[in-house]
Amino acid sequence: MKKHHSIITSLQQTMIRIFIFFILFSTVNLSIADEGMYPLSEIHKLNLKAKGLKVSSKDIYNPGNVGIIDAIVNIGGCTGSFISPDGLIITNHHCAFSAVQQISTKENDYITNGFLAKTREEEIPAKGFSVRIVDSYKDVSKEILGAVNDTMDLVARTKAIDKKIKEIIAEIEKQNTGKRAEVSEMFTGKSYMLFIYTFLKDVRAVYIPPRAIGEFGGEFDNWVWPRHTGDFSFIRAYAAPDGSPAEYSPSNVPYHPKKYLKVNPNGVNENDPVFILGYPGRTYRHRSSYYLNFEEKIRMPYVADLFEWEIMTMENTGKSDRAIAIKLDGKIKGLANTMKNYRGKLQGMNRLHLVDNKREEEKALQSFIEANPKRKQLYGTVLEELGRIYDELSSRANYELTLDYLLQSSGMLNFGYTVYEAARELKKPDIERIGSYMDRNFTRTKESLQMSEDNYYEPIDKIFLREMIMQASRLPQDMRIPAIDSIIRGGDVENAVNQFLEGAYKSSKLNDKTFLMDALTKSPEEIDRMNDPFIEFAKALYPSYQQLRETRQRREGALSKLSALYVDVKEQFQKKDFIPDANSTLRLTFGKIEGYSPADALYSSPITTVKGIIEKTRSEEPYNTPQKLIDLYKAKNFGRYMHKKLKDVPVALLYNLDTTGGNSGSPLLNANGEIVGVNFDRAYGATINDYAWSEDYSRSIAVDIRYVLWVTEKFAGAEHLLKEMGVN
Ligand code: ASP
Repeated sequence: MKKHHSIITSLQQTMIRIFIFFILFSTVNLSIADEGMYPLSEIHKLNLKAKGLKVSSKDIYNPGNVGIIDAIVNIGGCTGSFISPDGLIITNHHCAFSAVQQISTKENDYITNGFLAKTREEEIPAKGFSVRIVDSYKDVSKEILGAVNDTMDLVARTKAIDKKIKEIIAEIEKQNTGKRAEVSEMFTGKSYMLFIYTFLKDVRAVYIPPRAIGEFGGEFDNWVWPRHTGDFSFIRAYAAPDGSPAEYSPSNVPYHPKKYLKVNPNGVNENDPVFILGYPGRTYRHRSSYYLNFEEKIRMPYVADLFEWEIMTMENTGKSDRAIAIKLDGKIKGLANTMKNYRGKLQGMNRLHLVDNKREEEKALQSFIEANPKRKQLYGTVLEELGRIYDELSSRANYELTLDYLLQSSGMLNFGYTVYEAARELKKPDIERIGSYMDRNFTRTKESLQMSEDNYYEPIDKIFLREMIMQASRLPQDMRIPAIDSIIRGGDVENAVNQFLEGAYKSSKLNDKTFLMDALTKSPEEIDRMNDPFIEFAKALYPSYQQLRETRQRREGALSKLSALYVDVKEQFQKKDFIPDANSTLRLTFGKIEGYSPADALYSSPITTVKGIIEKTRSEEPYNTPQKLIDLYKAKNFGRYMHKKLKDVPVALLYNLDTTGGNSGSPLLNANGEIVGVNFDRAYGATINDYAWSEDYSRSIAVDIRYVLWVTEKFAGAEHLLKEMGVN
């Protein structure tokens, strides 16, 4: 009797857990009605009219015909959109920043003063930039998964998928000269899409506002609402005179896109429906609690602390000399953006108990799995196996993170490593090489090295490398890195490291661009004879990195199998089809202009105005508003851009759309598909979006088109651009 009683109890408990989970989930479902970054393949299923939009899904994307998506571009990890028939693109200031950084000097400081090309002839090449426009997509999951089987060794599995992807890309690019193909994993280990892109390589800077506008509020205001940042820039895509993609040439002409967006100078209002098309980078909503726990406890705190120290070190060094500050600016910005994002995520994870909630979810999932023998057989050990992978990863994290950031922290080591690895990779058949050394990518790899050379500053490089070697020297016995041990062999560790660094920086020539580019053409034997200390250091480290690569391939092989099963069974449990996590492919998201309550007793309304800029203004960066802008405000010289009710020019907008990094620069579109803003950020509480979206806290931020146009017309005097956009 007793036994019977306890069986019923545990069964009942399971049922109750499942029931509670369903209740919880269905309420969550109601409130997250607008979650979703819909890929192209899903757009036709959406009823956009019901969401208040006047455009239909066919207006947005209609295979074989022109749609709004033809105006959307990917620019090196950001998004942009065509807004004129002559290839004019609007994106964020922070996305075009490196274009203005490249041409800035102490004497000609475009970062501070802004850059404006008054004629097309004055538009300057933005080195390293390229523009991609999606032409078509195709599901290639069967082909990719046909290359693997269940009995395969895990490293072999990863390699087989990688090889198949490369083969498909090679074939498509052969058939479509000048196009770029990419295969994107939609659901890990489960589905893959082939995308074909038009790829434009001649991109030029047109108008980039002064930093005091484009980055107003700097890092203090980054990831924060209310916001007053004019985070926009104009660039232009060029093509050969026949319209085909071409490398930069003075004889190139502006590119004529199939579609460009209409700019609506009247903007939008609170509660208006809006949508965004863009290239969101990465979200992790379909990952397990084990992954989230690893991020929260280990990886993010490590990276945030390291970056914080690096930023502080660079800022102190740049204080004394503007020329040095210009070199370091881009890196500081990038690190600071990531650091604050991670701090925001960590705060949100703690506040929302994300890991615990996910664990509860998984407990209920496990009960669901075990309630059916067939399911148990298929999925019974999935969660346990996932857990084991992250246990192993956690126990090795110190070692792996040190190796990762050793290479990332030092330009010189990175140059040496690339030279050493290139010599080995370039000997292999193209298809077998690591991606960055394949013919289709090698030019870009060299370009990005040249850009790092431009911003190379030895004292900082040395400090960072020293710190990472010291970190490595403290690793426990079972995680030693032989190359580090041979530097510090015997004696005083600090002394040995200092000595090594002094000698290496003195005699290496890798900080010379010509030398570096030449070194990239050498064979492994020639490289050996060069005797460069950083190439030698890279050579000594190479086996450790090779081993790490293999460890990761094995892990990836296991995760690929398990993640597919995990998502499968979760879909069964929740009785719905999931939208794939963001993966840098084109997505649609929709919602409305809306305020929110970021914390108890606080409410944030969704439109800021120039008044707020004036209130924040001080004499120093990052709140040093240009006098001309202040004068325009004082004179109430708002032109047609004044918001009738607010009696001011709107600066930034807040809305409940589902975005992430990579959506930077995406057009914010009104119900008719006209551009009314440029997305550039999220509120602090929404950094957690990448793990879990919620109507309560997920808010993204755009610069209002009225502010963009006001600055462009009244502040910069670039009326020719307004005319080109059809706003006059
Ligand atoms: N400001 C962000 C970025 O640069 C955009 C976002 O993540 O929402 O990554």
